[in-house]
Amino acid sequence: SVPAQVAEPVPAATTSRPIPAVLGADLQVPVKGGRLVGYANLDYAASAPCLEPVSAAVAAALPAYSSVHRGAGYASQLTTARYEQARHTVRAFVGARPDDAVIFTRNTTDATNLLAGCLPAGTTAVVFDTEHHASLLPWKRSVRLAPPALPGEAVRAADEALAGIDGPKLLVVTAASNVTGELWPIAALAHIAHRHGARILVDAAQLVPHRRLNLTALDLDYVAFSGHKLYAPFGAGALVGRRDWLAAGEPYLKGGGAVRSVADDVEWHDDPEPRHEAGTPNVLGAIALAAACDALTATGWTELVREEERLIARLRSGLASIEGVRELSLWGDGHPRVGIVSFTVAGHSARQVAEVLSGEYGIGVRDGKFCAHPFVRHLLDATDGGCEDGTASAVRASIGIGTTEEHVDRLVEALRELVNR
Ligand code: PLP
Repeated sequence: SVPAQVAEPVPAATTSRPIPAVLGADLQVPVKGGRLVGYANLDYAASAPCLEPVSAAVAAALPAYSSVHRGAGYASQLTTARYEQARHTVRAFVGARPDDAVIFTRNTTDATNLLAGCLPAGTTAVVFDTEHHASLLPWKRSVRLAPPALPGEAVRAADEALAGIDGPKLLVVTAASNVTGELWPIAALAHIAHRHGARILVDAAQLVPHRRLNLTALDLDYVAFSGHKLYAPFGAGALVGRRDWLAAGEPYLKGGGAVRSVADDVEWHDDPEPRHEAGTPNVLGAIALAAACDALTATGWTELVREEERLIARLRSGLASIEGVRELSLWGDGHPRVGIVSFTVAGHSARQVAEVLSGEYGIGVRDGKFCAHPFVRHLLDATDGGCEDGTASAVRASIGIGTTEEHVDRLVEALRELVNR
């Protein structure tokens, strides 16, 4: 039987520190008529603002940095220690097994592509059409599954698809959708994948800023995520998971650091971390990413989740109260989700809505198909909304640390005014 668990339950940890502040919380932006208003940033799912402790960690590292792993000088040693400490922090943050590889990448896209380059010959990836392009596209050979009408159907569809594939297989799935915020049944999918001798890669880009992830407890093989969505906007991400494919795979970049020795022949490192991190790494990005992990852990997920759920419930009920505003959802109202909501506004293109929100109300949202073209098209077809103007796009509002009730209420009131014009 399949575990019913959707995502790891939030542990009952008590808050040990207040929720940290984000930089730019007092940013003023110009709106129509030349007025300045406080910026309501509701675009966290694209890139979250920088947490103050992250900025402080980067500032503390700046006075003495140098290239890692190669120098005997003090700054090089210090930087190497900080870089490797960051790796430990990231490992603990996602609950990785002691022998898992933790590879710093540029972002989630970089991480999924890195893994794609290390798959054993002939591997088939099984991937739902609901994925972000970063997880949908890197695979040489893939089986694509239609958006499942229910979480249980996702498990059934994966089960059937994996059963029909010979040779190595990888199930690729998001933990939290970047379009609807809905949580996927990753524990059940991991169970199914393993029953068929497959591995599972979880795209955790939109989960880790919002919920604790425990790779070991969920029995996941790989997770990928981005620092810039995790309040660490310095361009580092991570791929964490089993070492063997990564140790055997073609080095992601070829150059210094990835090799043991170069003569007529090249001897590459077997350890995944040096093997796939050629060149001078983004040390400050790794330090920032680790500082964000530390800050979230120190605050405690109970407090973070409680505040986010309060605000997203307020936003969703506000949106539901406006005639003509329709939320996009795969699995309906009661399904658990993170702080992301996409919607259409009858009679207005998504672009028009986003421009009015920005230009007249100082609200930042995203419009478009959110690098998930098949999924957004599916949702728009299913709700028969948003396509009226032929652009097949939606508006996305996403929240996180630093979002206030005033931001949420301003968005709802702005949309109400817009539809009443
Ligand atoms: N996966 C998901 C679910 C995302 O939301 C995103 C970014 O929007 C990505 C992958 C890609 O992230 P990045 O652009 O940082 O590589």
